[in-house]
Amino acid sequence: MRLENQVAFITGAASGIGRAIADRFAREGAKIVVADLNQATADKAAAEIEAAGGKAMGIAVDVSNEEQVEAAVAAAVDRFGTVDILISNAGIQIVKPVDEFSFADWKKMLAVHLDGAFLTTRACLKPMYAQNRGCIIYMGSVHSHEASKLKAPYVTAKHGLMGLCKVVAKEGAAHNVRANVVCPGYVLTPLVEKQIPEQAKTLGISEEAVVRDVMLRETVDGQFTTEADIAEVALLFASFDSNALTGQSLIASHGWFMN
Ligand code: NAD
Repeated sequence: MRLENQVAFITGAASGIGRAIADRFAREGAKIVVADLNQATADKAAAEIEAAGGKAMGIAVDVSNEEQVEAAVAAAVDRFGTVDILISNAGIQIVKPVDEFSFADWKKMLAVHLDGAFLTTRACLKPMYAQNRGCIIYMGSVHSHEASKLKAPYVTAKHGLMGLCKVVAKEGAAHNVRANVVCPGYVLTPLVEKQIPEQAKTLGISEEAVVRDVMLRETVDGQFTTEADIAEVALLFASFDSNALTGQSLIASHGWFMN
């Protein structure tokens, strides 16, 4: 097993990509902290991981709330002893043209994606620095490198994660802490399923056209990336035990964006 006894604090792990990473890491022997907005859904995911033979706990946390993040990481350390891996993954999406974006929605997007990444990073660096070892993985996106219409705060935040990652990689090196960014193309999760009818309405095209001509047009094969693909890339970063891979981003998008 590639992550035996390591403690992985995964935000947004009750759904979609975060849940797939939680399942994959649990199968590799990691103890999973399912950190998500709602206690019941976090507990349900943790119970399912335990039923499959893993070790997990659910914690309710809003990643944009400083006190809640501090308390959640403290609870994880209390239960499992430390945090070895942070997957900063919780995210939301709001799509609108820039000229129609409300300031409140802009701030909400940056709060969840950027404040959430900063607060969870800062909280998890304490146990990581104390044990002189750790791994931080940010859930970026092709939108960490590329823009799309209707997604101003999302693209801004996902680019911002690249900057945070690089600073954490530089500062963390002295403490044997690595930081990297996973950049998925479109993955059919609730976050994307919600956008398809919204984009169809805003762009005045069918839902099929949104999928074919907007989301997957630039891929090499017209295919969605899968949750399992992203879990595999996260596992690569989490189990790669050298500073050769730090401050990097890896794009898994069926060739939509090529570096
Ligand atoms: P999802 O909606 O299935 O899961 C997101 C999870 O985050 C949910 O369980 C939700 O409750 C949780 N969450 C939202 N706000 C939170 C908050 N303030 N505090 C704690 N938890 C919160 O979405 P997903 O597609 O699995 O997205 C996960 C991450 O992957 C996001 O950062 C997203 O931007 C990124 N991403 C997704 C895609 C895609 O195509 N699905 C592509 C690239 C990047």
